Amino acid sequence: MENNILLDFQNVSFSYDEETSPAVYAVKDMTFTVKRGEFVAMLGHNGSGKSTVAKLANGLLLPTAGKVLVDGMDTSAPENELNVRKKVGLVFQNPDNQIVASIVEEDVAFGPENLSLPREELRERVDEALRAVGMYDRRFSETYRLSGGQKQRVAIAGIIAMRPACIVLDEPTAMLDPKGRASVLKTVRRLNKEQGLAVVLITHFMEEALDADRVFVAHNGSLAAEGTPGEIFSRRDLLTVCGLELPDTAKLCGALQALGVDIPSDLLTEDAFVEQIIKMKNG
Ligand code: ADP
Ligand code: MG
Repeated sequence: MENNILLDFQNVSFSYDEETSPAVYAVKDMTFTVKRGEFVAMLGHNGSGKSTVAKLANGLLLPTAGKVLVDGMDTSAPENELNVRKKVGLVFQNPDNQIVASIVEEDVAFGPENLSLPREELRERVDEALRAVGMYDRRFSETYRLSGGQKQRVAIAGIIAMRPACIVLDEPTAMLDPKGRASVLKTVRRLNKEQGLAVVLITHFMEEALDADRVFVAHNGSLAAEGTPGEIFSRRDLLTVCGLELPDTAKLCGALQALGVDIPSDLLTEDAFVEQIIKMKNG
């Protein structure tokens, strides 16, 4: 039977400095799973442990206590290291730190080149990955000429070309302008929907979590909550405690209510908001 669970965090704790007493944990007793093909968003204020989770997910860091299983493989077992890295790809915040080659297609080929694939297959994987992120037409471009959003999509293509089952993106849009953010998000969504790639999107933009199947809220190294976007964003008390904001649309509804406008407070997306306004206008 194929294992439906791709990422399995079992009571995972992590400390950057095991000498300190009492121990300081960046991640504390976290338990969660991510299923094959699932789209999970992880929210949390600065220092809540999100980046540490990302690095634990592909064995870049190993748990101080507990277990991380990737497709059933214990990341702590040295013999699993390579296969774990192949299964879970990481994309980081700063696109400039992730681009290694001067030409787009060379950059995308950099990872898979180390897999000693036949020439043909390498070519095929690179082209396919470039198409998947909408950068095929720019394959011969110089990477330094690209916008932040384009660079980030090239970085994603480099990961896709490794054919992972899961991609973990650590605030991939934090340094991008709105256009770049939108293009990266669209790409991530498409990879999830069309290629069944499991996605863990770490973000501090609440809007980016609205499309997720499930939302995790990290707080002080622990998981404070888990639920659908609707469930999470209706818990204003939880968001306040965890130092998170409401999505813009929900904030706007709150402001309108304060002005005496009779509008529901659970409108999360722009579409839902516009629909409501039209409904109100038509009486
Ligand atoms: P987030 O990504 O949510 O901002 P991090 O996982 O980066 O959170 O950090 C969690 C905690 O671990 C914070 O208290 C942070 O200061 C600490 N930390 C992060 N990276 C290191 C490191 N390399 N060495 C020591 N402490 C670290
Ligand atoms: Mg971080």
